[in-house]
Amino acid sequence: MAKYCKDCKNCATFDVFKGNCEALGKRVILDTPMDDCSDYQQKEKCGFCKYYAMKPKEEFLGVCRKDSDVPDVDVYAELVACNDFVPSA
Ligand code: SF4
Ligand code: SF4
Repeated sequence: MAKYCKDCKNCATFDVFKGNCEALGKRVILDTPMDDCSDYQQKEKCGFCKYYAMKPKEEFLGVCRKDSDVPDVDVYAELVACNDFVPSA
């Protein structure tokens, strides 16, 4: 999953397009690719969890495969992670 300023813990959302980078003290566009920003700190969201799997033909919706004993549960990649979050590699 691509990573942007909006995925960074340092980004305080200002509106739907902009945020404040608390590490660098400047306004950022939320959809700016983080590239190799050395201050990037990834937020914990389903889309960055090792149990998240993308659904075919879906951009924002996937499934949680945490519990192998139950059917997969639909989750949005942008959902704030639950307590079972494990960062994907
Ligand atoms: S630390 Fe880097 S990636 Fe994070 S919000 Fe600031 S500029 Fe964006
Ligand atoms: S619901 Fe929890 S375990 Fe499942 S993908 Fe999201 S953060 Fe990971």
